[in-house]
Amino acid sequence: MSLTNKVTAEDILRISGVDASRCMQCGKCSGACPNYDEMDYHPHQFAAMVRKGKITELMESKALYQCLSCFACSQRCPRGVEPAKLIEAVRLSVIRQKGKNYMTADALPEKLDEKIPQQALVSAMRKYSK
Ligand code: SF4
Ligand code: SF4
Repeated sequence: MSLTNKVTAEDILRISGVDASRCMQCGKCSGACPNYDEMDYHPHQFAAMVRKGKITELMESKALYQCLSCFACSQRCPRGVEPAKLIEAVRLSVIRQKGKNYMTADALPEKLDEKIPQQALVSAMRKYSK
């Protein structure tokens, strides 16, 4: 994947509405993450990377697609940093650079299965559409 346009920490602040500079690296977010073992950047590391402006590295991370968008990290954060929103903003930046939708509402009916929670479908739409 080639990411040509540089995305800055200010861009992520604008998209997410979250100020990563408020993070005090307490790690509570990562302690609550149910997919901790699968993520190459854990929530507290993700916040630190945004604060340092290392967005390109995050755009190439597998954490973007391993995050379950469960918002447990955001709920635990004592500083209102909300790592889940930071992850979502970086993911959205990647999708915008690719310039197309990977999932449309039209494609949903054939994916419907009574065993799939509606929240998973909503989450997938958020991840894979512009
Ligand atoms: S819980 Fe909040 S303040 Fe603590 S490391 Fe995570 S993002 Fe930073
Ligand atoms: S939203 Fe993502 S990073 Fe946050 S706790 Fe859930 S899986 Fe982990």
